[in-house]
Amino acid sequence: MSQPKQLPPFPNSYATKKVADSDAKPCTICYKPATTVLLNDNKMDFFYTCDLHLQDEHFATPLPNEEHAELVKSREELEKNLTDLKTKMDAVKPYIWNNTDTKTSTNDKDDKKDSEKSANKSNNEKFKEYETEIRDKTIKLSETNIKISQFKFKAYKLNQDVYRGRIQNYIKAKMNQARTQKIQSDPTFFPTVPSNKLE
Ligand SMILES: [Zn+2]
Repeated sequence: MSQPKQLPPFPNSYATKKVADSDAKPCTICYKPATTVLLNDNKMDFFYTCDLHLQDEHFATPLPNEEHAELVKSREELEKNLTDLKTKMDAVKPYIWNNTDTKTSTNDKDDKKDSEKSANKSNNEKFKEYETEIRDKTIKLSETNIKISQFKFKAYKLNQDVYRGRIQNYIKAKMNQARTQKIQSDPTFFPTVPSNKLE
């Protein structure tokens, strides 16, 4: 058990390559026609996978991607912006919509009238500004969400069991290859059977 751990023949890192529809091959999991090839970083392993399985985290997870991280970051910023803007907009909501105590302060109503009027006006302007800004940012946010959901990752890491399966396949293929070569190059590989016993 104290032996040094043997390094796997290839790393758990695969790049996606697209092939033409006419070159589609069965997905390695579900056998549906697939046009995406996952090619190991050191090119010792590759296989076809459909888009559905590429999105299945029990099969593979995308490796960190800068472009994707930027999109997620801008989504977070937009969401925060929108929350802030909505708070600000609520604070300057036009008088008629948010005031429940219209009947108070009747005494100094006339004195305040002018100043209230101008304050309301600027609040109305602010409200409209926030409204426009919220509309723009909401559009931007939904565009960002679409970009994130349609993002094509360029590199994947396989689920541990899937990766182990790939390595086992590879080792088995290597062993078969070595065996075939041995059979082909060594005439004494099979013991000779007396011909009379074959009949
Ligand atoms: Zn599939």
